[in-house]
Amino acid sequence: MIVGAGASALMLASSLDRKKYEKICLIDSNPKVGSKIKVSGGAKCNITNELVTNENYLGDRNFVKEILEKYSKDDLLKFLNTNGVFPKINPKIVKGTYFCNSSSDVIDMFLKLTTHIKKHLDTKVLEIVFNKTYKIKTTRNIIESKKVVIASGGLSFPVLGATSIAFDTAIKFGHTVEKLEPALVGFTVQKDQFWFKNLSGISTYVNTFIEGRKFEGSFLFAHKGCSGPVILTSSLYWKKGKMAIDFLPNKNIEEFLKSNKKISSALPFAKRFTEEFLKSIDLEDKAISSLNKEEKEKLSILKFYEFSPAGNFGYTKAEVTRGGINTDEINHDTFESLNQKGLYFIGECLNITGELGGFNFQIAFAQANICAKELNRL
Ligand SMILES: Cc1cc2nc3c(=O)[nH]c(=O)nc-3n(C[C@H](O)[C@H](O)[C@H](O)COP(=O)(O)OP(=O)(O)OC[C@H]3O[C@@H](n4cnc5c(N)ncnc54)[C@H](O)[C@@H]3O)c2cc1C
Repeated sequence: MIVGAGASALMLASSLDRKKYEKICLIDSNPKVGSKIKVSGGAKCNITNELVTNENYLGDRNFVKEILEKYSKDDLLKFLNTNGVFPKINPKIVKGTYFCNSSSDVIDMFLKLTTHIKKHLDTKVLEIVFNKTYKIKTTRNIIESKKVVIASGGLSFPVLGATSIAFDTAIKFGHTVEKLEPALVGFTVQKDQFWFKNLSGISTYVNTFIEGRKFEGSFLFAHKGCSGPVILTSSLYWKKGKMAIDFLPNKNIEEFLKSNKKISSALPFAKRFTEEFLKSIDLEDKAISSLNKEEKEKLSILKFYEFSPAGNFGYTKAEVTRGGINTDEINHDTFESLNQKGLYFIGECLNITGELGGFNFQIAFAQANICAKELNRL
């Protein structure tokens, strides 16, 4: 029995030995399979990344390394190509990203590979109990099984079916769940950054500095604060403290301050951005050559604009859930619970979370494939 019919569940179901597991079924509260795959990557599914390493993940990086060695991005691409899906590198948003022609291609591929598997859709799992066998209580019936693989994802995007069933079940069987938080998500801001809101819709290329890491990419001013790819990735590492933005990446501030132009003419930003920024630091738009030392210092914060986000946009907007089931309590070769025989956890419910850029599908598919190989061996 597989709880979920999302990314990892579909890969698992597609990779299990048909003869051995002819009676398995998928259970999902959604009316269709692969709801997150469908919306991912702007409906073009950013499925993996050319540059994937264990450094792109939070969680036990040694375990991530093992997983990626057993099932690499090349293995995933080979599997996709063999089954008629041909993702292409498109580094427009994040370096090394592979996008599909359409997310539907991935879903159609999985549907073809799982025609033999029974799917209980529109069926929400309410509780899993164990008494000699597993009893999966759903909104329709009780399904009995000798083994259960929980592939029900995290808490992000409840509108696409996310529930806490993986974590509730894990806790029930004695597992620890590392703190769950929305990640790959935009930030809300404090009063000093309310000027961001006035620029909603404007984007600019920046570097961010967070928890000793540096990221580059597009920064989007948003109605609630800030977002965009570079902020989503930064959010994975944010721990309620300060972060900084370099609004002038690859530009030397000393050179810029030697300019004879007016500030607004010298800055490479949309006019509205310059206006709001200058207002926020209480500086008039005038010739850079006329600025005194203090004014030059004020302007220089464009190179290192430090602020503490107020919070984030929450699970309704977060692409993933950071935290999850402690991977020390899971058999690293099989994904079986070390506490409970016959119970497996794969996918985003585990405490492994990737950056933006195809890293989360890569790890979910890899875990599913490894788990399937072990189940096929039994
Ligand atoms: C908007 C958005 C865009 C994204 N884009 C990308 C991208 O381009 N690239 C990338 O790598 N990652 C992307 N992600 C992240 C990626 O989708 C997830 O990390 C990945 O799908 C996790 O796979 P999973 O199998 O663990 O869970 P999911 O794919 O989330 O599957 C879990 C399934 O379990 C079902 N379920 C949950 N609870 C129950 C229950 N109680 N009963 C029955 N069914 C249940 C859900 O309905 C769901 O179908 C995106 C996420 C979002 C929200």
